[in-house]
Amino acid sequence: MKQQDIVIQNPTGLHARPAKIFVNIAKGFQADIRVFHGEKKANAKSLISLLTLGVESGSQIHIEVDGEDEDAALTALVEVIESGLGEEELIERVANEVEQAPEAVAPEKEGKPQTESTALPENSIQGIPGAPGIVIGPIYHLKHTEIKVEETFESESAEKNQLQAAIEKAKGQLTRLHAQMLAQGVGSEAAIFDVHMELLDDVELLDAVLAKINQRQSAALAWQSTIDARAKVVAGLDDPLLAARAADLHDVGYRVLRILAGADGENSVFPDHPVVVVADDLSPSDTASLDRDKVLGFCTASGGPTSHTAIIARALSLPAVVSAGERVLALDDDITVILNGDSGWITLKPGDDEIAKAKAMQQAGQETRLEAQRVSGEPAITIDGHRVEIAANIGGAAEAREALISGAEGVGLLRTEFLFLERTNPPLEDEQFAVYRDIAQAMQGAPVIVRTLDVGGDKPLPYIKMPEEINPFLGVRGIRLCLARPELLREQLRAVLRAAQQGTLRIMFPMVSDLSELLAARALADEICTELDVPSVEMGIMIEVPSAALMADVFAEHVDFFSIGTNDLTQYTLAMDRMHPQLAGKSDGLHPAILRLIDATVKAAHDAGKWVGVCGELGADPQAVPILVGLGVDELSVTVPAVPTVKAQVRALDYSETQTLARRALACATASDVRQLVEK
Ligand code: PEP
Ligand code: MG
Repeated sequence: MKQQDIVIQNPTGLHARPAKIFVNIAKGFQADIRVFHGEKKANAKSLISLLTLGVESGSQIHIEVDGEDEDAALTALVEVIESGLGEEELIERVANEVEQAPEAVAPEKEGKPQTESTALPENSIQGIPGAPGIVIGPIYHLKHTEIKVEETFESESAEKNQLQAAIEKAKGQLTRLHAQMLAQGVGSEAAIFDVHMELLDDVELLDAVLAKINQRQSAALAWQSTIDARAKVVAGLDDPLLAARAADLHDVGYRVLRILAGADGENSVFPDHPVVVVADDLSPSDTASLDRDKVLGFCTASGGPTSHTAIIARALSLPAVVSAGERVLALDDDITVILNGDSGWITLKPGDDEIAKAKAMQQAGQETRLEAQRVSGEPAITIDGHRVEIAANIGGAAEAREALISGAEGVGLLRTEFLFLERTNPPLEDEQFAVYRDIAQAMQGAPVIVRTLDVGGDKPLPYIKMPEEINPFLGVRGIRLCLARPELLREQLRAVLRAAQQGTLRIMFPMVSDLSELLAARALADEICTELDVPSVEMGIMIEVPSAALMADVFAEHVDFFSIGTNDLTQYTLAMDRMHPQLAGKSDGLHPAILRLIDATVKAAHDAGKWVGVCGELGADPQAVPILVGLGVDELSVTVPAVPTVKAQVRALDYSETQTLARRALACATASDVRQLVEK
């Protein structure tokens, strides 16, 4: 037997994501591995067991490994702990949001039209557009209800088979959701579902359930009581973050229980008629579980357009209004509403004429969407002959194929982070090469902009030791991290430049704030071209830090293109964390300050003969599209499902009118003014 004491340095202790990495390494070995913390002992191959140790940052654990491969197992575990085990920033953020939700004050929606807007009907509540589309139906307040647990015991084998089938089905649901989120380029947000999957595979949990079935308990009862007992232990832990993992256990437990209870598992709590769901906020899993046959759309009191809820809604094409304020929570169940995900309105108890109007808009919207899909292969040229390129944001090879089918004229942003996250060492050059080559080939010659690794700070990698940062969004992230770890950038650039021989790849550097960063990155790329004896490719930078926008004339001399990352540009310009639950309503990319930075960027680029794209969420916002086009943006890179509709919207615009609109928008005082201007 081998053993070792080691201190957990991870700033958030042994929480879900680091624990998951630890469990995955442990599972790769035959040896029996136990972890001790104080009086408590855990099976290192069980996530729940590890979580219940409650290991906080700075605590010492004792690892005992017993078996043939004990040396290798202990070395691997110690190495992965020493390298930092990654962090659970995403889960922490979700937990924080969940914790804060009850107190969350409905944001004053400075960035969006207010109730005094002439357009907003009196019987309506103004929220923020979360996902496009109009639906009409009775509201239903989503609360978790008790499920009737089947207590009748059939036979050991029947109960075990039922359990196995339910778990497999739950995994299928989680995998689908994960894939949908990846297609939206939100791989890191999707990581929470990896944790749920791991819980479904937990050896100790399953052993405990099977033991109860052996004692003639029904699968549902055995599952429920085991989940409840484990969740109780987790919830009782002192650390609030760890205790919040009980919610994940309940969440995933509830998913399986619903399946075991029949009614296809997902929506047995719903009324049997289609509804508009109203909730304070929805967890990613809640949103994942919404059945399109029963749920017409949803409205949340808190959250924001870049929240998990809204991102998932767009992925599911589910009309949504977010950040509508607490008033919606007090509405009676079953009253009819019109939910307008395009304008962010909820109209209460609409009259016949309002319903007729909404139906006409709904019908027109559906027809527009279908028509947009039908002609998605055609270019986006305004009625007066100005062409705008519409590209897709993707996070993997599968999405590249979908992008092409949707009519994307290229990939405006390949987020390469998906290759680097959730693993214990970086992908090797050859692995990266194969992925970039596949994507280049899938795009059949259309250009693909490969963004170099954009992690660090808020998205740490377990295999890169970085000092803890007080404010990671302002720390060593993006290009700063890559330049601090040139070996990472070197491998990635080698892979891209090799793959570029088999398609049209371009390179883009993220988070550039100073010319020296761009020059250093370019110099490395040039050096690699010489080394590989391959021609160079087009290179550009993301404009997502105000300094880069303000210095665009200087940068323009050294790039082939710019792509404006409005998500980060908004965050850094307005000094509002893009994931902040209370600020979501104010953090609006149509703020004139951001439009002025976009304007400056476009002018500087065009003066130097370079082109400019927009690859942040703003590029698909229907109210922003005419303004961005009017400012002279040459390319809009949007999520795959948005490609046909953005193309259609551009085709309906008059370029000279959008130019006038854009000038007026630049002169507006607030984001709200800009949105009202567009509405007019
Ligand atoms: C952005 O910041 O707008 C962007 C597209 O990059 P990401 O969302 O990946 O930070
Ligand atoms: Mg960004």
